[in-house]
Formats: sequence, structure tokens, C-alpha cells
Amino acid sequence: MSNIIQLLPDHVANQIAAGEVVQRPASVIKELLENSIDAKASRIQVVIKDAGKTLIQIVDDGQGMGLTDARMCFERHATSKIKLADDLFSLKTKGFRGEALASIAAIAHVELKTKTEEDEVGTCIKIEGSEVVSQDPCVTPKGTSICVKNLFYNIPARRNFLKSDNVETRHIIDEFQRVALAHPDISFSLIHNGSELFQLPPTNFRQRITNILGGKTNEKLVPVEEDTEIVKISGFVGKPEFAKKSRGEQFFFVNNRFIKSPYLNHAVVASFDGLLKEKSYPTYFLYLEVDPKSIDINIHPTKTEIKFDDEHALYAILKSAIKHSLGQFNVAPVLDFERDSELDTPYEFKNKDASAPQVEVDRNFNPFQNEYPKQSYSGGTTQSFRREKPAQWESLYSGMQQETETDVDIKQIEFESEEVTGNLFGSKEEGPEKSTFQLQKKFIVSTLKSGILVIDQHRAHTRILYEELLKNITVSAAVSQQLLFPLRLQFNNHEIEMLKDLKESLEQTGFIFAEIARGEVEITGIPTMISESEVQILLEQLLADFEKDVPDNGFSQTDLLAKSLANSMAVRSGTLLNTVEQQHIVNKLFACKEPGLSPFNKTVFTTVSVDELDKKFA
Ligand code: ADP
Ligand code: MG
Repeated sequence: MSNIIQLLPDHVANQIAAGEVVQRPASVIKELLENSIDAKASRIQVVIKDAGKTLIQIVDDGQGMGLTDARMCFERHATSKIKLADDLFSLKTKGFRGEALASIAAIAHVELKTKTEEDEVGTCIKIEGSEVVSQDPCVTPKGTSICVKNLFYNIPARRNFLKSDNVETRHIIDEFQRVALAHPDISFSLIHNGSELFQLPPTNFRQRITNILGGKTNEKLVPVEEDTEIVKISGFVGKPEFAKKSRGEQFFFVNNRFIKSPYLNHAVVASFDGLLKEKSYPTYFLYLEVDPKSIDINIHPTKTEIKFDDEHALYAILKSAIKHSLGQFNVAPVLDFERDSELDTPYEFKNKDASAPQVEVDRNFNPFQNEYPKQSYSGGTTQSFRREKPAQWESLYSGMQQETETDVDIKQIEFESEEVTGNLFGSKEEGPEKSTFQLQKKFIVSTLKSGILVIDQHRAHTRILYEELLKNITVSAAVSQQLLFPLRLQFNNHEIEMLKDLKESLEQTGFIFAEIARGEVEITGIPTMISESEVQILLEQLLADFEKDVPDNGFSQTDLLAKSLANSMAVRSGTLLNTVEQQHIVNKLFACKEPGLSPFNKTVFTTVSVDELDKKFA
């Protein structure tokens, strides 16, 4: 058989390498920014069009390249940064693989203009799909300017794989921020489709963080400092009360390089032990300096994962440093933000007035008597029932023991409960009464003619709100509650852009925006279904959802908006509901178009028929 193995042509090898290095426009930005920093630039400008799909241009005032280097830099494994394998262990630069420019030039139209301090004229090189198209002397200031156009023009599969402009812009902003946060002494700017997203002057770490994340960030930061033989830690953690609903603001930098480390993240979260609400994520900006010898950056082509020699020690040092800071700045002991969710009124009932319950005393009640007098149930007197409700009532169903002890007649209780609620709220608008009770503060259980119905309260309420919101956005706008004092909320530039996109739909749900300006939003009205204190969290969640998955067309945008808001607004599992609230949910649910599924396609309720029950007792 003839020999069949061949060396791949360079442009093919480059395209393959590009698959690893360049996943999306943001990867190009990252590589080019790193090159500019390695070239000791003090000012770096980034201009993009259409989320980088059409154009990415990076201009720096760094050391530039001479004629030969300008040509060489596009060769694979061409680098000025390391010479020997040993150099890998004393890296001071961001790049070292010599792959980025070769990879980018393999999959885009690239134009490089560069000049060194010493040279009179600069060099301009055009490359398309690894082919040099032209090379000419040119007039250009000291430094380097690289234009990357039509990314993935020759790999349609990759181009089609790119997400919407919003998502790709988010990725670009993420990379940009990571680099800018690691180098506060360098000035950066980012311009997208002609509008300026960031303009960052040279400054210190704290100010850079504030410039990027918005004006109020400064007051939320607690400094962290620690100097040991293995590691020098500096930076900030966010005060626990400002923890985010999404993982947005978590940054580790090791020797000024942004890295991802679930292990170290765990150390940070552990040091916040007990200070964070469930499902919230601490903000942190932590700068670690370690001996380059003690880490291996070479384990991932995009260089965001690194291996530490002594991870365990690092974990312990980091955790204790943060704990110390939180304690020292008195963050830890004074906080009590555990809100008792049982004290919250569910949205639907906020504006109903409840008539004052009559206080009735059970004169037969003896706290030392374990067994409650039988006749108070079977006799149907309201007094004894009230005393039992709701805790005792609930436990009647969850604990079999009590049931046998007290020998309850269930029918009697159903009847009683309706009487009591009707009385308390003076409303019977819920239609034909069905008896309901709540199980584990999670399910609403109701009887049917043919069996029992078990409803997941959160999913059911989500479905109800979702259909209402959809109707509001598409058909008839909801009413809003005017705020006495306008609410001012801070958002970063990208979030502001997204809010502008969503403004119209949000207004249909009842929000009134007085102003959406740089860094701040002023809200003068909100939907009746929510309270003022919830607005910030709600909008943050909404933006986080939109960042994850931004639909381009109108309907799916409306749909996502309704889903996200409904999910944030719906009663959670763990919330105690009274009978009126339970029945309200049951009735509203079955008036929905699709009561069986939550907007996220999860089962909302299930039934158990008498037949099935009969079988269990066979
Ligand atoms: P690496 O950064 O791993 O060395 P790259 O492909 O990113 O590989 O760049 C190749 C070389 O091109 C770099 O080593 C550097 O010498 C040169 N270079 C790239 N970008 C710039 C820039 N903005 N200014 C000066 N030199 C640059
Ligand atoms: Mg590089």
C-alpha cells in the first residue's frame, strides 16, 4: 500500500488551531488586547461593529513591530515572548504560544498597521485566510493597529454558530472588562456601532472597578490584603448585602491574568459562610500574585485555567484573608437580612383589605393537655378551629399520628375552613368553593370529585403571571402604581443598552421609566403586582436572563420577558398561603390557556384518582 500520511498545509493547520483559540469575536478581542499589553501599550482602543462579526479593530500605542516582525507575527508558533521551554515557568507576558495572530489570520480578513519608535515609516500588511494579499510601507503612529473583518468568512458553520449580537457583545464586554480590571494603569476604550460603552482613564484598582461597574460600586467594596510566602493577595470583596442574583461580578486574577477557578471560588463562598442569602453570589475582585514557577498556565489554549502547585494552602489563605476582612470591616456581625418570607403578602393580595378577625377565646383550651377535646372538631365550633389554624391544620395532614389520636372527621374541617375564610376576608368571589390545603408550604392540595389534585404553587403562579404578562405586553397594557418618590437604580452601560431595548415591553407590564441614562435608571411607576423593594432584584434577574439567551425576534423577546418576570414574581415554595390565596391560585390556574405546564415546560399539577387510592388499600 502506498504511503498515505502527509503533513497538513499551513493554512489548514492554522484553521484547525483557530478552532481552539478563536471561538467567537470575544476570543479575538482577548488575544489582541493581550498582545497590546505585552507590547507595553499605555492606551488601547477597541472598536467593534455588529458585535465584532463585521469588524474588530484594536489600536495601541505600544512598541510596534519592524518590517520583518510584522510579517513573521502571522506565522504559526512565531513569538517574541519565549525561546526555551524553561521560559514557560518564568512567564511575565500574557501570550507565549505564538498562535493567536496565525489563527485569526486564517479565518478572517486582517489588516495590520504597525511602526516602532525607531522606524521612519510603518508597515501595512493585508492577509486573507492565511494568504498575504499586500504588504506596503505606510504612515502610521508608533504602535499597532489591527483590523479583523468578516470573522469566520471561510467557515460558514462557525459563523452560523455565533449567537445573537447581544450575546456576542456580552462576551466581548466580559473579556474587555477582565483585561481592563487587571490593568488599571492602562487606558482603555470600547466603542460598539458608534456608541461608546467604556472610556476608562488610567487609575488604581478600586477606581477602575468603580468605573467599570458603576458609581455606587465603591461603597460596596471591602478591601482584602494578605501577604504570605506563597501568595500575595489584594483586592476587594463586595459586602454581603450586595451579593448578586447571578454570578456576574466574580473575578480572580493571577499575576494580572484573569482566571477561572471553581476551587478558589469555593474558598470565597466559604468565607462568606452564613452571610449570604440563598441563591446569591458574592461579588469579588481578587488579585493573586504568585511565583510564576508555581503555576502552569499551559493547560488550556485560552489560558483561563491554570494549575497551582499548592492549591490547598492557597485555599486556606484566601479563605482566612477574606474572613478577616469581613470581620474587620464589621460586615459580619451586624447583618441580619434573613427576611421572614411568611411575613410577606403575596402579590395578588396586596391591595385587598382584610377585615379584622374577631378574637375569640377558647375557654376549654388547656395547654398542658396533649389531646384536644374531641367535641371541638365534631361539634364544629369555630373557636377551636381557629386556634388550630394554620400550624395544627397543616400537621393534621402531614403527621398520621395526630390524625389517629384526634380521630378527625375531614369533611367537618373542610366545611369549617370555608366558613372561617369567608368570614375573615369578607369575599366569596372565588366562585364555587373547593376545599384546599397546603402541603409542606409547597403544594396546594384540593379535592376533586374523582380524587385529589396536587398543585405546585410556584409553578402554578408562574403560569398565571406569565399568561397575564403576555396579555399585557401584547394586547392591553397593565396598570401601574405610581411611586411617591422615583426609584433610582444603577446599571452598567451594557445593562442600560438592554433596558433601552426592553423599555417598551416593560412599560406594557406597568413599569414607567422617567429616564434611562448613563449608568442610571429612574423609575416612577411599577406593576401593581410587585413591591418597590423587589424592583432591583427583578430587573437584575431579567437582565441576567437576557444575557444568557437573547432572542433576536420580537415574539421570543416578549416571551422571555414574560417568563423571566413571572418566574421572579411568583410565590416561592416555602411561602405559607392562606386558604383564600390557595383557592385564588387554583381558580386562576384553571382559567389559564395551558394550566398543565409551567412556562418552562414543567408539570404544574398532578391528580390521584380514587381508583388509584382504592388500589393502595386493596
Ligand atoms: P504570542 O502573543 O503568543 O507571542 P501572537 O500570535 O499573539 O503570539 O503574536 C505573535 C507576536 O507578534 C508576538 O510575540 C509579538 O512579538 C507580536 N505582536 C503581536 N501583537 C503585537 C502588538 N500589538 N504590538 C507589538 N507586537 C505585537
Ligand atoms: Mg498573543
